[in-house]
Amino acid sequence: MEVMLKAPNGTKWSQPLGLFINNKFVNSSEGKTIPTINPTTEEEICAPQAATAADIDTAVQAARTAFKHPSWANLTGRERAVLMHKLANLISQHGDVLAAIDAIDNGKTFATAKHFEVPWAVEVLRYYAGWADKMYGQTADCGPDRVAYTVKAPVGVVAQIIPWNMNIGFVGMKLGPAIACGNAVVLKASEACPLSVLYIAKLVKEAGFPPGVVNFVNGYGGDAGAALVSHPGVDKVSFTGSTETGKAIMRLAAATLKGVTLETGGKTPAIVFEDADLDNAVMWTHRGVMAYSGQMCFANSRVLVQEGVYDAFLAKFKEQVSQVSVLGDPFEKTTFQGPQVSRVQYEKILGYIRGAREEGATVFMGGEPAAFDGKGFFVQPTVFTDVKPGMKIYREEIFGPCVAVVPFKTEEDALEMANDTAYGLSSCVFTSSIARAHRVANGFEAGQVYINSSSTPDIRLPFGGTKQSGIGAENGEAGLLPYYYTKSIYINLKV
Ligand code: NAD
Repeated sequence: MEVMLKAPNGTKWSQPLGLFINNKFVNSSEGKTIPTINPTTEEEICAPQAATAADIDTAVQAARTAFKHPSWANLTGRERAVLMHKLANLISQHGDVLAAIDAIDNGKTFATAKHFEVPWAVEVLRYYAGWADKMYGQTADCGPDRVAYTVKAPVGVVAQIIPWNMNIGFVGMKLGPAIACGNAVVLKASEACPLSVLYIAKLVKEAGFPPGVVNFVNGYGGDAGAALVSHPGVDKVSFTGSTETGKAIMRLAAATLKGVTLETGGKTPAIVFEDADLDNAVMWTHRGVMAYSGQMCFANSRVLVQEGVYDAFLAKFKEQVSQVSVLGDPFEKTTFQGPQVSRVQYEKILGYIRGAREEGATVFMGGEPAAFDGKGFFVQPTVFTDVKPGMKIYREEIFGPCVAVVPFKTEEDALEMANDTAYGLSSCVFTSSIARAHRVANGFEAGQVYINSSSTPDIRLPFGGTKQSGIGAENGEAGLLPYYYTKSIYINLKV
């Protein structure tokens, strides 16, 4: 079942609505659907099918069969790589449609989706295609009477669960390493905006993957997501989403002792020292928290500024927001910030802003809804000052265009404040001192450190968090680890 859709920029496409199982789009067994809303207009776009536990069972069985089927199991790494390159090429060719889908379904700007996310997905698929024929083991000297070697064996059926903030990118990041290692996949999209994932399903089929190797389902987390994580036919779970859901997933996976990779929330600190290039610090910290309407796991939502430059930093940051953070239609070329993804997120962010005022923080700028003609889940870019460590906006992940700018005195104070969080995903330091940059980088409790820039990961390096920001990593060689196990094989030479 497909519907014709048209974006405000004239892009038209046929949008699949079904669950993608065994290379076919099928209806939910109970006919369940979830309407998906355009956050700019607040109108319903369409109502894709939503998986029930029975549908999840069908998808997992399809993946189990495909995993063992010779059409997949007997492929060499090079042959898997060919399929991955085909998918990467198709995603690239369909970049305009994919970007248009996310602009209407998610609210991110067309330009961001087209020029950042589509190339990211293409690059990560190609990167892991390069690994597909290099997944071999070692030989070991076990004496004259036997030969021993290891092989890297795929884990089997992998459940992958993604959030709504980077559909196209996450499909690349999740499929790439799993497929390179020879697994079969059931990926659950977020119910908040599943359309671009379902569109990529068409490209999976066109690329020529055997039926059942890649399955995409839409559905509610507590329903389809939980059924997928608990399913005994699933061997491994890779989850990206909030820390709270990550904890629930660990509990569910424990019953069948599944390995879990968790990429969860963050509360990234950026430390700006007096000796930093302030214009550079302002440019990066603004982008690092306001891009994607603030809906980034690594958003630097706490900017710690040394006392001597605090006022100067705030003035420049305000100017940057005024000049760069243009709110508007995601298809307008001048738009920097679109709406928040959904009414739920929009109200949650406004709730945090209300709470900040009640707790005594100052709303230095922004802090209001910003609908156009009374429509759209827009929130003004918001800067808080007079923020105390106990406040919710300092401790909790807001996942919106909001930043707390807090003064500090010494390097020691700054590091203590930076690490005073349950999260450990990313961190940034701005200074002109090489020695200080390295000292602070070593002191950060975070999976990534950026010196004189903010979170801009590269697919060749591991991406993951420590503390409650996750378990394991994606990207780079480390991203392959969850998707294979090492098997030791011994040959007796004395027979
Ligand atoms: P979420 O945790 O609410 O949902 C994420 C996914 O989990 C969705 O597909 C949802 O349907 C599913 N889900 C929800 N409950 C479930 C359950 N009980 N069992 C199985 N699946 C379940 O997160 P969200 O609101 O979609 O995304 C925002 C969060 O994602 C933020 O916390 C953000 O920091 C995090 N995130 C982390 C990274 C990272 O790489 N560390 C990247 C992007 C987003």
